[in-house]
Amino acid sequence: MTRTTPPRPLDVEALFPELGGFRGTTTRLHPRPGVPGPSDSSVGGPLLWPAGEPWPVCGEAHGRGRGRRPADIRRSRRILAIAWAREQAPGPTDEERELLGALRREHRIPGADESDPLPMVGLAQLYRRDVPDLPAGPGDCDLLQVFWCPFAAHGPGRYDLALHLRWRRSWEVGEVLAAPPQPSVVGADGFLPEPCVLHPEQVVTYPFAGLLPEELCARIDAWEDSLEDEAEPPGYQYDLSIPPGWRVGGFASWHATDPYPMDCLTCAAPMDLLLTVDTTEWDGGSGSWTPLEDRGPSGHGCATPTEVTVGRWGELNVFACPRDPGHPHRWSIQ
Ligand SMILES: [Zn+2]
Ligand SMILES: [Zn+2]
Repeated sequence: MTRTTPPRPLDVEALFPELGGFRGTTTRLHPRPGVPGPSDSSVGGPLLWPAGEPWPVCGEAHGRGRGRRPADIRRSRRILAIAWAREQAPGPTDEERELLGALRREHRIPGADESDPLPMVGLAQLYRRDVPDLPAGPGDCDLLQVFWCPFAAHGPGRYDLALHLRWRRSWEVGEVLAAPPQPSVVGADGFLPEPCVLHPEQVVTYPFAGLLPEELCARIDAWEDSLEDEAEPPGYQYDLSIPPGWRVGGFASWHATDPYPMDCLTCAAPMDLLLTVDTTEWDGGSGSWTPLEDRGPSGHGCATPTEVTVGRWGELNVFACPRDPGHPHRWSIQ
């Protein structure tokens, strides 16, 4: 099934014609639970990884011997899905609650050393043929694979994420690694994606208001202030500029921090947004971005299909160098 973003509540370029000069596109990925294969674009699906190539590991020293077991997390999700899908008295029964409690227990891996190589979690893979806004990779690479360490324990403050991005030429991969290594435990459930197939859809987008010319940003602010008395006024930030959810290309939102320059560490070029990893596909507010296919009599469908959580309830923006896609990526959390 395709996914269709509804028309915006109003034509923002009719109100602010200068915005036309800043118009861009972004591809909403619309991940939904499914059974992707290695030759599909996916979130949390099997990756097209050569059998003979070492799997990415986190080698940074941090605790890795305590956490939840991936199998327990998956089982808990299955129990909850069945419980909430029951027509009669949806929600976990006492018996299911007890089981969920047992599965929530933290496990310890005896003898785990702070610097043992820790298998990273395959988060997503994207084929250029599927995702219109995915830029060209280095050389003629057509496949982007994204990994992260399942612990938020990196960097000087010991709370940052560790990401690994790999571009490859899909046609060069022969035998695919059948059973990739996985971590024995993860630091939090949200590091473990549920397998999702993608339904890419390209939509129009505009920059974060704070990055528009000051005079234009001020007029947008004044317009929003003038709508204050309406019941559910559309807003530039949440309804008209940047869609929520997993997406590729377009503009980063800086709603949690003030915008800061994201320049390439190799050549100093201002970087472009490559990928947004989002905790929710739409928010509970007006929900104007909820695809038509997910609006039903029972209300909005599940807004967290991937089960991935970034930070507390946020999004991760990954940036790429526009001059040379081989330059290291950078990222920030909102
Ligand atoms: Zn790590
Ligand atoms: Zn660069």
